[in-house]
Amino acid sequence: MGRVGLRRFLKLSNVLDEVALKLLTLFHVVSVLYTRPLANLIEQLQRLPGVGVKTAQRLSLHIIKRPIEEIEALAQALIQAKQQVGSCTVCGHLSAEPVCEICAHPSRDNSIICVVADSRDLIALEKTREYRGKYHVLGGLISPMDGISPEQLNIQTLVRRVSGSKVAEVIMAIAPSVEGETTTLYVGGLLKPFTKVTRIAFGIPMGGDLEYADEVTLAKALEGRRELDF
Ligand SMILES: [Zn+2]
Repeated sequence: MGRVGLRRFLKLSNVLDEVALKLLTLFHVVSVLYTRPLANLIEQLQRLPGVGVKTAQRLSLHIIKRPIEEIEALAQALIQAKQQVGSCTVCGHLSAEPVCEICAHPSRDNSIICVVADSRDLIALEKTREYRGKYHVLGGLISPMDGISPEQLNIQTLVRRVSGSKVAEVIMAIAPSVEGETTTLYVGGLLKPFTKVTRIAFGIPMGGDLEYADEVTLAKALEGRRELDF
């Protein structure tokens, strides 16, 4: 290694050292400032989405001050939710029963199915109180980049559901993105021989999430749906 190369290497290793030192300091601060069980709790909470180190510390300090009964109830709720909540065998929505409440509801319209990427989108649409049909939850979007193929999604059940009964319309309610488009066109193509396929209007911004759209926008997107053209 020449002199310049060596100098560059030393410079780079200095930067790396600094990063390593910062990480070590951070870890050291957490484990020194907080006794081991508390540091462990902070670490576990930090794994949750949207929870940074500060929130995890605040929650942990709050938790240990609460009465033991309250904490036991929280721990039980976590375990029971994990053990008891599965997927509806008809539509794939989150459910503690084999068939979810929406699928089992006698006054919901069986002739119309709204297809969503996940249960969060279903909940967002339910909040509009505009839709009285049934749903189908795909459990994600087709994404070759992330290695998600159609076989990994809840698509075959949908095709069986639509081909086997009298469904007048399937609404594709997938937020626009590259993966969303691929999924809408793929699923729509499979269903077209059996029924009318529509898609929600684009009041939803590109790359946006149904979950974050307000209820009026969602209701309008649903109302302004149009037939899917290929
Ligand atoms: Zn269901």
